[in-house]
Amino acid sequence: MQSLVKVKRSQPRPRDRLDGLVGRLTVRLRSCSRALGDPSDSYLHVGTGVLRLKVDEARLKRLAESARTKSQLMKVVEDLGREIQLDYADFTTVRGLVVVPGASVKGNVRARLELSFVPSSGYVRSCLIRASEEPLEPPPSGQHGWRHFRIWSESLGFARESACDYTEGDEVCLLCDLFGTAGLEGLIAFADFVGDQVRLTSVDLPTGEKLRVAPPGSAFSGTITFTNLKAWEVGLLLYGMGLRSLRLGRPVLFGKVKYRRYPNYVFGVVRYEVERLELAPFSQMLEVEGLRIRPGSRVKGEDLDKLVRVLVGLARDELGKELLDVDEVGRLERLKA
Ligand SMILES: [Zn+2]
Repeated sequence: MQSLVKVKRSQPRPRDRLDGLVGRLTVRLRSCSRALGDPSDSYLHVGTGVLRLKVDEARLKRLAESARTKSQLMKVVEDLGREIQLDYADFTTVRGLVVVPGASVKGNVRARLELSFVPSSGYVRSCLIRASEEPLEPPPSGQHGWRHFRIWSESLGFARESACDYTEGDEVCLLCDLFGTAGLEGLIAFADFVGDQVRLTSVDLPTGEKLRVAPPGSAFSGTITFTNLKAWEVGLLLYGMGLRSLRLGRPVLFGKVKYRRYPNYVFGVVRYEVERLELAPFSQMLEVEGLRIRPGSRVKGEDLDKLVRVLVGLARDELGKELLDVDEVGRLERLKA
């Protein structure tokens, strides 16, 4: 039997006092577009998960009114069953605005980090917060989740202890300390990312699924705030967005149907771009490799490129071989169905 890999846990840092870096990132999330120099034209679907049925109400009313007997009415119900169609799965909106919910962005960044950790000396840095969704054996090619498993096989191919739960114990893993878990608020908070004049369009997939999607090049903006972090942990957050050496990250996968490939559509290839990093007036000074970012100040442009490079470097130094560098889009492209 495979032995269970332990999750490295410790007491979360205090939430009730300020100690460390406190600030905010202003971030853009954009679906890739060849017109913008990206590798593909990619649509994005971030849905509510609610499936709607489409019925011709006027016709239904007419039919129901024409039914004189119970059996005629039953016939109407039967016909109706044949006529009901799946309506387009909506893209998320909030107060009429097209948005990618903060919870979805958080889930995306967190999952990428969880899946980027591999064990060292019998311990792994992170639990899998939604472990029930993760298969332990590689699903056969073509079955649900097989691409996900292949892409992240190094971090999914072993059994680990169950997810942290702060209502049950007093220790949590690194990512639960940063992003929160049951009974523990995270130190990193994600606001909703609001679409910048995104014009949703409808696509019909060969599977019969119908989706409302944001077309290639669609951009969404939002903020990510952080409290009481160390410099390398800010670097890890950036790493989780696919940033390496510039404020513009490399292509990563996001949202629903991101692993599937169709002849005419690519889904969920996006890039994160950090436009600004600001430190709160009551933050510690950020002093790394000759860079001094004072509390209350902000960094953008080429200075931010350099800061990203330095912070990501610190995260890599801290975590060493435990932190994988998986090019998920590249791996997906190379997978054959
Ligand atoms: Zn955990």
